[in-house]
Amino acid sequence: MSNTELTKRTAVELAAGLAAGEYSSTELTQAHLDRIAAVEPTVHSFITVTAESALETAARVDQQRAAGAELHPFAGVPVTHKDLVSTTGIKTTAGSKMLENWVPPYDATVFKKTQEAGLPLLGKTNLDEFAMGSTTEHSAFGNTTNPWNPGHVPGGSSGGAAASVAAFEAPFSVGTDTGGSVRQPAAFTGTVGVKPTYGSVSRYGVIAMASSLDQVGPLARTVADAAALHQILAGHDPFDSTSLPDAVPDFLSAAQTGATAGLKGKKLGVIKQLQGEGWDAGVLATFQEALATAEAAGAEIVEVDLPSLSYALDAYYLIMPSEASSNLSRYDGVRFGLRELPTDGPVTAETMMKASRAAGFGAEVKRRIILGTYALSAGYYDAYYGSAQKVRTLVQRDFARAFEVADVLVSPTAPTTALKFGQETEADPMALYLGDVATIPANLAGIPGMSLPAGVSDGLPVGFQLLAPAREDIRLYGIGAGLEAALDDKRGSTVLAGIPELTVA
Ligand code: GLN
Repeated sequence: MSNTELTKRTAVELAAGLAAGEYSSTELTQAHLDRIAAVEPTVHSFITVTAESALETAARVDQQRAAGAELHPFAGVPVTHKDLVSTTGIKTTAGSKMLENWVPPYDATVFKKTQEAGLPLLGKTNLDEFAMGSTTEHSAFGNTTNPWNPGHVPGGSSGGAAASVAAFEAPFSVGTDTGGSVRQPAAFTGTVGVKPTYGSVSRYGVIAMASSLDQVGPLARTVADAAALHQILAGHDPFDSTSLPDAVPDFLSAAQTGATAGLKGKKLGVIKQLQGEGWDAGVLATFQEALATAEAAGAEIVEVDLPSLSYALDAYYLIMPSEASSNLSRYDGVRFGLRELPTDGPVTAETMMKASRAAGFGAEVKRRIILGTYALSAGYYDAYYGSAQKVRTLVQRDFARAFEVADVLVSPTAPTTALKFGQETEADPMALYLGDVATIPANLAGIPGMSLPAGVSDGLPVGFQLLAPAREDIRLYGIGAGLEAALDDKRGSTVLAGIPELTVA
């Protein structure tokens, strides 16, 4: 089988092929490494490619399989991790100069889990510095391009993860979502991305951004592949104090059943607040078409009103910087990470700290640290952080009410398709924040969300977002797979077949 054929297969197909002995993990891992070597000069999904480690795991899995060992069903199928996930002995940068040379002495639980399942690690993917951003342009290690059109961003902050999957460099990939960083890059690259219920996937060893919002989640080219990876990542972890005790449901079989069961009787609640003025016409039209397809496949469409969503974005941009400013105070040049000495004046702990933080952090991270420390300062705490937490409660109540009349809530994942490079990042950071309007409510409420490809507008993918109640992630897979199947003609041309072959440099 040719390399191209192998890299275009889904993770579910690859797992079946391995089990049937059609090819070895070494062959298929090498096929992905070859693809990486060919397209990285254009796409730049990775900060670090870990070819050696990938082939080592692949060889081990091949040996075990040959010896008749009992293996995880996806053993031998390669994966990538966002470079925010700690990996023993492999540099983990968070996209920041601050951690440019940091080699973790321990594994994040999610990495441990993919290792234990026998998934070869192809590499660590690019991201906005400390996961702050929506374009991956805030990485200290260069831009990642959108495989659909290299003049456009892949979204962010898990832009490298999404691009690695869309460019067939990896079948699936691990990202993180604090305000949309898995779902929005999935939307921009025509892939499937899931933010699980808060606390259902361990955050141990994942570099923190905003601890009450952060979740790890899967990216893939199909709903079933996302389900398979989610199932590997999820589960209780005593090392994460916010980890839920729940057993891990069978997401993969929910997706497989959902694909054939269709959408009959499923109620989709269209969120009134997430459409209209300020939304790209092509995005809205593609979303409406997908809704019509869902209706034709038996779904019932209702409109739901969530008035508090008008304040959600403001609440997020207070809570997130507040928590981030606190989490990032550990990068002080003393314990680990970059240390710079002042170029003039006396060297004291304070001037060293100042020089290290000035040199180590990029502009967006500094902006958020300043915002956060201001919001948390005495005298302003109640007015800003306190009010934002109240909005959070209102958002949770609105969601609870809406889920009384709908199985899942739906909206476009983002108001636009993938932006051009430099379009808004530097000119107007606030404008970029507005692009998170559809994804952040789920993080504020702790509920799970999925983005799947709805179709294409002007040559760029449009994401369709599904939200479910907390601990009902499985609904996203059942209904998501039903919708994916109903959209198959569009999806076929967008996700699997239609990604233009990249010009190889
Ligand atoms: N774009 C959002 C932000 O910049 C989301 C980030 C994230 O989910 N990590 O904060």
